[in-house]
Amino acid sequence: MTDLPEELKLVLTFFGGTGDLAKRKLYPSVFNLYKKGYLQEHFAIIGTARQEMSDKEFKDLVKDSIEDFANDFSEQEIDKFISHFYYIAHDVTNIDSYEPLKALVEDLDQKYTTDGNRIFYMSVAPRFFGMIAKSLKSEGLLSTNGYNRLMIEKPFGTSFQTAQQLQNELEEAFNDDQLYRIDHYLGKEMVQNIAAIRFGNPFFDNTWNHNYIKNIQVTLSETLGVEGRADYYDTAGALLDMIQNHTMQIIGWLAMEKPDSFSDVDIRNAKNKAFSSLRIYKGKDEVSQNFVRGQYVGRKSAELNYNQEAGVAENTQTNTFIAGKLEFNNETWKGVPFYIRSGKKLAEKTTRIDVVFKPTAFNFGGNAGLQGYPVLTIIVDPYGSIKLQLNAKAVTDNFFLRKINLDWNVSEQDKTDSPEPYERMIHDTMNGDGSNFADWNGVATSWKFIDEIVKVYDENQAPLELYKSGTMGPDASDELLEKNGDAWVLQGNHRKTIDANL
Ligand code: NAD
Repeated sequence: MTDLPEELKLVLTFFGGTGDLAKRKLYPSVFNLYKKGYLQEHFAIIGTARQEMSDKEFKDLVKDSIEDFANDFSEQEIDKFISHFYYIAHDVTNIDSYEPLKALVEDLDQKYTTDGNRIFYMSVAPRFFGMIAKSLKSEGLLSTNGYNRLMIEKPFGTSFQTAQQLQNELEEAFNDDQLYRIDHYLGKEMVQNIAAIRFGNPFFDNTWNHNYIKNIQVTLSETLGVEGRADYYDTAGALLDMIQNHTMQIIGWLAMEKPDSFSDVDIRNAKNKAFSSLRIYKGKDEVSQNFVRGQYVGRKSAELNYNQEAGVAENTQTNTFIAGKLEFNNETWKGVPFYIRSGKKLAEKTTRIDVVFKPTAFNFGGNAGLQGYPVLTIIVDPYGSIKLQLNAKAVTDNFFLRKINLDWNVSEQDKTDSPEPYERMIHDTMNGDGSNFADWNGVATSWKFIDEIVKVYDENQAPLELYKSGTMGPDASDELLEKNGDAWVLQGNHRKTIDANL
């Protein structure tokens, strides 16, 4: 027992406690924190939702969720764990139902001596977020002797205006540093590895700027189509589903300067500074020059086009693919494009970052061959990997260059040891560490940037490029890079490699 970590004391309340996310991710994550000893005796978990349910029924629901979704458990462990769970029926829209919840939170605070520490997790539809936050304050659920933290599921608004409105509502009850906006990509092991690779190695730390980097590429590609989620997807498209949130959050880690320290405050400051220099495109010309939107069509006759999917209108203009070029108007990134792309029904399911370095000016002599661009690749999904493409000498009689690849893959042991993003995010919130959460300034800038693109697309002022499913998107996506003498490092098999040096 000696190597157990110091235990965390709190009452954690889940709104939406009977929902899909709670069952699949949240309860198994809290269970893992319990198994690791972060939660021991002084904690209580409350589940709330509209329906009536006994504590016993709720405990059974949590037990099922752990048995279905946790990796490693014993009956005994689960039973001890779920003895800390309580349920209360609660309609978040009914102000009167906050009083009994308050009584329960206070009661459990006493019973488990949790020092007045409270986390409220809103795993409900986003339209309820503002109302819950305000009611927690007005109905006296916030503790005066411990901490109060609010975890907010996505999406955070659907435009800058709605995000700002939500932020205002949340700020009526909480300070910004008590808000933990979830973007589960920030909880991924390999996304967190960006900081380690960048700042932990002087040869990247010192070269992470326009003097050495030619371009940076971020790809979040899926092979699946809409899979019955057309209701939602047709209103969002790739731009709102993947770019506005996850892709932009990854960009934050890549574009930021080195923070003054590794504290969440300094990390946020450094990211915000980068976001404040993001060039916002205005009007159809700037948007069309820098962004490509696409929609898939079936490659074979048996495959559906996007506009033939159930629930999608034949004349839909929704983007199932986006590629774009971001520019940061600051000294560090002078002239360095950040290319992003995401889409459905693409050739490969992956989340990856490719950092393309410039070749050196050194002349190896006329016959040595051209130097290629060194490339650092960080693969986030579906498996963690770091690759480095370098120039080296070929084994030939005359001095000749060739590309070599260094490759590191996450081990099976690492995979087993890596906490789920939700586990990490809940743990970070318990520790008051906001490093891996979306900051309001970043979210606001991202929306301001995306809103301008949405405006052009909503008015249909930009071409909608069709692409065949199973490719890496429309040719216009490749051409976006070719205009700058660049090429995607990850090519689809529908195109030849454009630049022999890559
Ligand atoms: P869900 O529909 O499965 O669950 C919603 C929960 O809210 C249920 O417990 C329901 O009883 C409760 N609820 C509904 N109306 C209520 C009311 N008036 N008062 C009190 N409780 C009420 O939804 P979900 O899939 O669990 O998603 C929850 C949140 O997480 C959403 O914001 C969603 O966008 C987000 N999210 C979900 C996933 C996922 O994988 N499911 C992934 C990312 C984000």
